Amino acid sequence: MEEKDFELCFYRAAGMLGLSDFVNVAIEDYASLKTSAFREGGKIEIKTSREFLLLPENETMGLALSILSKISRRQLGPNELEKVKDFKKFCNSESAFKLLAAKKLQRSIGKKVEEDEGLKAKRDEIMQKYESISQISQTPTIKWSKSASKRILGSYCLALNSISISRILSRPFVPNFVLEYVIYHELLHAKLQVKFRKEGGKKIHFAQFKEEEKKFEKFSEAENWIKRNIF
Ligand SMILES: [Zn+2]
Repeated sequence: MEEKDFELCFYRAAGMLGLSDFVNVAIEDYASLKTSAFREGGKIEIKTSREFLLLPENETMGLALSILSKISRRQLGPNELEKVKDFKKFCNSESAFKLLAAKKLQRSIGKKVEEDEGLKAKRDEIMQKYESISQISQTPTIKWSKSASKRILGSYCLALNSISISRILSRPFVPNFVLEYVIYHELLHAKLQVKFRKEGGKKIHFAQFKEEEKKFEKFSEAENWIKRNIF
């Protein structure tokens, strides 16, 4: 959809909700699918990911109705709610996921990953030790995260086949087996990837994942240590 048609959907949605605000839509290059809205003095400013331009019209209306009803606190009728539902379904679909993965990959071209030698050695050691992850076809890259996040101890990016480990785990009070456990968990993501539900939505920590996760030697000790010391 062209930007002007995209914006038109927002005007139409504003009309459906009986809003008389001036609506401005800015398209941004975000790393994930997101939108933000701001309302002041008869004006609504909306920022949204460029990827949303690829939505079909019905889903675009859903996106517009969802944002505008939230910011104006207007109730949606059943027809409008149906469009919002279709939009949300798209966001959780395999096609949306692939779209973003391709975009990420495109942006990463030419950028070098700052891998960490210590983490690389640990990763290789773990891959050798555990049969469950020894058959990963392509070894993911591994690095420390920029921030010392307590909420996200590790993450795996499927698009870039890369693991990022929270810097908080590099601190001396963290036992070795806890760091190894988090690396093991992320390597499992690299091996098992994601599953998509038919009705939309993806599963990351599915039954097989949980089962294989327990094969880590000090699984309970590591889980307990994290619960007691990090959360
Ligand atoms: Zn996980």
